[in-house]
Amino acid sequence: MRATLIYGAGDVRVETVPDPAIQQATDAVVRVLRGCICGSDLWPYASMPAVDHGNRIGHEFLGVVEDVGADVSGLRAGDLVVAPFVWADNTCDFCLEGLQTSCRHGGLWGRNGIDGGQGEAVRVPQAQGTLVKLPVGEDSALLPSLLTLSDVYPTGHHCAVTAGVSARTTVTVIGDGAVGLCAVLSAKRLGAERIILMGRHKDRTDLGVEFGATDVVAERGDGGVEKVLELTGGDGTHTVLECVGLKEAVVTAFAVVRAGGVVSRVGAPQYPEVPMDFGDFLRNITLTGGVAPARAYIEELLPDILEGTVDPSRVFDRTVDLDGVPDGYRAMAAREALKVIVAP
Ligand SMILES: [Zn+2]
Repeated sequence: MRATLIYGAGDVRVETVPDPAIQQATDAVVRVLRGCICGSDLWPYASMPAVDHGNRIGHEFLGVVEDVGADVSGLRAGDLVVAPFVWADNTCDFCLEGLQTSCRHGGLWGRNGIDGGQGEAVRVPQAQGTLVKLPVGEDSALLPSLLTLSDVYPTGHHCAVTAGVSARTTVTVIGDGAVGLCAVLSAKRLGAERIILMGRHKDRTDLGVEFGATDVVAERGDGGVEKVLELTGGDGTHTVLECVGLKEAVVTAFAVVRAGGVVSRVGAPQYPEVPMDFGDFLRNITLTGGVAPARAYIEELLPDILEGTVDPSRVFDRTVDLDGVPDGYRAMAAREALKVIVAP
C-alpha cells in the first residue's frame, strides 16, 4: 500500500510500504477513508533533522474495518470506525480514569513499527479499546465532521473542560488555528456566553464568530492584552484557552486571565518553561490542560455531530488525495490552508 513518510523538515513523501496485517490478537486492520494533517505535524515539518529512513506520519483517521484479531470483540469487517490520536486498551486504570493518553498498553501512531494515519490502511493495536464504531455509511456527508473526533475537536473540548468553562465563566481563546476554533465551538457548547477570540487571520476569526466567539482581538502581544483587558473591565476572563503552544501565547494567557482564573493549554508547548511568577501566585492562577485524551470524549461529542447541531468539519478548507499530501503540508505551513483533509 501507499503511505506518507517524513524525512526531515520540508520533506514529506508518499511511498509504497508493507501492507498492514494482523500481528497480535488484539489488532484490527482499517482501510482509511479519510485522514488529515494536524497542526502538530507542522512542528517536525518545520524542524526535523534529515533522516535516511523516513518516519510514518499522521494520527487522525477514520475508515472501514477489514480484519480483526481473535481477541477483538464488538468489531467486525465492514464496520465504519474512527480512531483517536493515541491508541489505548480502554481498560487499564488510567483509561478508566479517562486518561487514555497515559494508557499502560497504548502508544502513538507512526512510532515503533505502528502505521501512521496518512496512508491507505492502518494496523490498529488494541483495536477494541481504540476504535469507536460510527453509525454511518462510507458515503456519509458527515465523514469530515466525524474525522474531527480523532483529535482537533476533542482537543478543543479538553481545553474548555479542563479550564472549567461553563455558563458562569467568561472565556479567552488564544489562537485561530483549527484547535482554537474548536475550542471556541466547545466553549459555546458548554454554555459560555462571552468568548473572546485572539487571532489575526480574518477568514479564520470569521469562522470563530460563527462558532460562537463574541469578540475578536486581532492584536498580539501587549496590544492584544490591552484589548482583552479593555473588553473585560480591566479584569481579564475567568478562563483562558491557549491553543498555540508558543511562549508568547502562554505569556499572553497569564496576562489576560482574571484573578482566581484558569489557564488551560493544549497547544503542544514549544518552550521549556512556563512563566508563572509571584504575581500569578498572588492572583491564584491555576494552570491546567495537556494532551487531550480524545478517546474519553468521543461518545459524548458524537451525538451533536450526528444530529448536525455542531459542524466542526468547517475547519477543513482543502481536500487532497495521497499524492497531494506533500502539497497539503506545504499549504498548511504557508497558512494557505487551515486544515487539510486526505481522501486516499
Ligand atoms: Zn489503558
